[in-house]
Amino acid sequence: MTKSGFLMVGAGLSGAVIGRHLAEAGHDVTVVDSRPHAGGNCHTERDADTQVMVHVYGPHIFHTDDEEVWTYVNSFATFRPYKNRVKSTTRGLTGEREVFSLPVNLHTINQFFRRAMRPDEARDFILNEQADTSIENPRTFEEQALRFVGRDLYEAFFKGYTMKQWGCHPCELPASILRRLPVRFNYDDNYFFHRFQGMPEDGYTAMIERILDHPRITVHLETVFDPADAGKWDHVFWSGPLDGWFGYELGRLGYRTLDFERFTHRGDWQGCAVMNYGEAEVPWTRITEHKHFSPWESHEGSVLYREYSRACEPGDIPYYPIRQVAEKALLSDYVRRAEATEGVTFVGRLGTYRYLDMDVTIREALDTAHGFLDCLARGERVPAFFVPPL
Ligand code: UDP
Repeated sequence: MTKSGFLMVGAGLSGAVIGRHLAEAGHDVTVVDSRPHAGGNCHTERDADTQVMVHVYGPHIFHTDDEEVWTYVNSFATFRPYKNRVKSTTRGLTGEREVFSLPVNLHTINQFFRRAMRPDEARDFILNEQADTSIENPRTFEEQALRFVGRDLYEAFFKGYTMKQWGCHPCELPASILRRLPVRFNYDDNYFFHRFQGMPEDGYTAMIERILDHPRITVHLETVFDPADAGKWDHVFWSGPLDGWFGYELGRLGYRTLDFERFTHRGDWQGCAVMNYGEAEVPWTRITEHKHFSPWESHEGSVLYREYSRACEPGDIPYYPIRQVAEKALLSDYVRRAEATEGVTFVGRLGTYRYLDMDVTIREALDTAHGFLDCLARGERVPAFFVPPL
């Protein structure tokens, strides 16, 4: 039987980047996606009433230290300068609700403690009067926070937010989640510390459509792929959920999903793109005002999302892999099954069950495409994973 070439299941970043690379190497590539648009969860679209570019599945800000990835995305989109400056509304020491700068920096510390400390003074103050230095090797999120910023800042900015975001107590979460966030003893309030940062001028979907725009690539949207049909293809790249490939036979890997409560406004509702809410009593984690993600545009109308996090049920969109002890055990069972399966490679955030930033997704997709072509050239078996999920 003649097979139909290479299939990418999912028209998000992984499928598009791998597909493009194989197409440029002279192969025929088909890309299918069950949704009516390309772009996966990076999808952006203009709101018909206000013309605001909306990050439909929540905010995406491109940031990387990987120069090759930065060059790659810039060859498919014009990137505009964008600095992610996040604020947090939470209760200060007086118990009143206030607005603070994030990530925790010298401004946050001075504002929160009503002081006017210089960097060294603030560092000494946090170390000697706030941090719990009896915790030598922080293992949980809570220990990490208490060790580095102390109880007051932890409770105001991290505890409530994290309980809402992850649905469990921070002492049940790994320290690695908090390590994503810096604490700074200067006034730098750029949320990310990467060298390259920006926003594609006409959105992520337009960028991903350009990646897919190649004479050897055929895209079918609103098309559901059944893994039982894998044998019809020379090789399948699956960017759907790892457990989904196996029909969730061994059980479901845990995810958090997000609900977005959309509302509109005339004018400027909150004055910034992202406002976090640190308190457990406020049910949403953050509010995003989408027009501020495109500061070079000007719109009278505004589109906002109140964002709520909850456990992902069948039929919901999976966002954040949970990866606690129970999920890791199930994950290793699925990994073993995947490794015993021929003709498919699992890619991306859902395929490898990891929380990936966009730049890492692109880096891994490029490496996967190279690795795959090497396997073809050498006549070797193509692995289920080029990047191990465990
Ligand atoms: N976090 C928090 N308070 C905040 C922002 C973040 O406690 O105001 C915690 C939370 O547990 C979150 C983690 O830090 O999951 C990582 O934050 P990041 O902003 O990287 O989360 P993302 O934007 O990727 O959801």
